[in-house]
Amino acid sequence: MLPSRSDSQQRSLENPDKQTMRVDSTKRTDKLIEVPRKKLNMRLYTESEQKIQDYVNSKIVTISIIGLVGAYAILIFIIVALEELLDETEFNNVSSILSWIELGILIVFILEIFVGLYAWGIKKYYKDKWLILDTLIILLSLFFVIFELADQKTSNVIKVIQAVFRFLRIFLLIRKAQTFRRLATISTISTPAEKIVRFLAELKEVLEDENMKLDIDYCIDKIGNNQLYQMGKLDEDNAEAMAWLNQSQQGKTEVKRILTNEQQQQQQQKKVIANFQKLNIPKRLLDILIKQHDDLYIDPFECDKLCGGEGLVNLMLFFFENYNLFDVFLIKPKVVRGYFEEVMKGYLDNPYHNKVHAQDVAQTCNFLLSKCKFIEIGQLDEQDIACVLIAGAIHDYGHPGLTNAFLINSRNELALTYNDQSVLEMYHPSQCFKIAWGNQKVNIFENLQFHKYRRIRESIILMVLSTDMAHHASELAITNSRIAAPDFEPNGKDKQRLMDLIVHSSDVSNPTKSYEIYKQWTEKVLTEFWQQGDKERDLGLPISYLCNRYTTNMAEAQVGFIDYVVKPTFACVLGFLPAYEPFFQNLDKNKAKWQELIEYYKQQLASIQPK
Ligand SMILES: [Zn+2]
Repeated sequence: MLPSRSDSQQRSLENPDKQTMRVDSTKRTDKLIEVPRKKLNMRLYTESEQKIQDYVNSKIVTISIIGLVGAYAILIFIIVALEELLDETEFNNVSSILSWIELGILIVFILEIFVGLYAWGIKKYYKDKWLILDTLIILLSLFFVIFELADQKTSNVIKVIQAVFRFLRIFLLIRKAQTFRRLATISTISTPAEKIVRFLAELKEVLEDENMKLDIDYCIDKIGNNQLYQMGKLDEDNAEAMAWLNQSQQGKTEVKRILTNEQQQQQQQKKVIANFQKLNIPKRLLDILIKQHDDLYIDPFECDKLCGGEGLVNLMLFFFENYNLFDVFLIKPKVVRGYFEEVMKGYLDNPYHNKVHAQDVAQTCNFLLSKCKFIEIGQLDEQDIACVLIAGAIHDYGHPGLTNAFLINSRNELALTYNDQSVLEMYHPSQCFKIAWGNQKVNIFENLQFHKYRRIRESIILMVLSTDMAHHASELAITNSRIAAPDFEPNGKDKQRLMDLIVHSSDVSNPTKSYEIYKQWTEKVLTEFWQQGDKERDLGLPISYLCNRYTTNMAEAQVGFIDYVVKPTFACVLGFLPAYEPFFQNLDKNKAKWQELIEYYKQQLASIQPK
């Protein structure tokens, strides 16, 4: 019998230093096991040994040996039959020919043993102890055949021993037949999963550590039962959510058939699209999001129109599916839809600070996370991604279309509630957490373990607070100094600060977009500011910066906004996201366009009479 080696085993042996396996066990905590090569006590095979192993395991050799075993069986049958039928002289005449044939067959079997010993080594080859007996039988058979051919006049004792050996040769044939049945099974192995299981089983045989053997049993069990992608025991309090999750994941694993790479990719794409389709995102919007979800130039107004004014809800559903956040939050899509519907309703119909602005900021955050690779640079996990996108979506919830200064100066209740400190930036997340906890049906945080919820809540609040322009200059200075510091850790202690900047920069990102989109936003924001200025004038309050429709030159204001706010902000972003570089020049291009318009707006202002 020839021990067969799987492809996976061969590949795994290519790295001679160590093998690394990640093993998740219910019996033991999750851990990274590094198995040194020496501990595995596995022999490394040379290229020629591997080639011979492949050859020996090949179909043609297997079939040839099966043919030879069949021939040997017939030969032994003929020898036994002729011995009975013929008298001694007649038999002796024929038997020398038969002995020569038998000798030939036995030599082939001997060669097969030598090749196996060379290719696998004595230890591995004789791991199956029956092979030692096979070898003995073949060697003794060879001895008797040579003995017969050398001297046909044998004593009765030798004849008895020969008869016994003939019986033993039949045993050898049965053994060989069994081997081929196994080889035939091996040759029909077609799925990687089966090869992996075989490899693990072989690995287990050579391991000494009992705990590792238990881990391997666990792996084999999970692969064998197609449970690789099912959640382990996480939180018994969330039994319903877990049941739903397991159910939905079982659905996912059904798709994981063993296919070629191309088929797998196509299958994967279909699966992805099918999963998105389940979210009921209108098809035309879904098509755009699938192609452009991380694109800086996606048109937020068009996206919102394509889904009947529910752009924010559909975008967030898309992100939840795209980043696997339903599984992170252990919630159903309908809860997420419900939550963001409530958030969306809370956005007032302001010219600028409305649901489309929220959608646009969440979208720009995703551009920085994905296309500009902050996910990689900050080593963001799914929770971090969720925090950034949710912060983007909720960051202006309930915005009254008035600035903090106006609310403070007009002694607004919000200013009284939040003690004049980042009034709106306190108000937005506060209301959004109330939405969740005020209605179980839309509570996206409900199934999170408390420590995770605390982490997510803290992170979201910090990001929304960072959108207060009052802290813009000081925070930007600190972030710049952190980026320049030798101990800067974008994936460690500086991660939250950078996440804050991602949301804040997205909030002021209009000048980085295409001019057509940017111009629309500019007109909207100034319309809102001027409405506030009108109110301030009516109330006898000082008119805030940019809020006087009779003195504010839109083009000049934008040039200043780019120079003093947006460009320094994105220069800082560029400091830790080099992939942003190609987009940075948009600022100068857009600034040049506004500069050309300064004179035009001057004339416009001169033509209108202040009230
Ligand atoms: Zn905003």
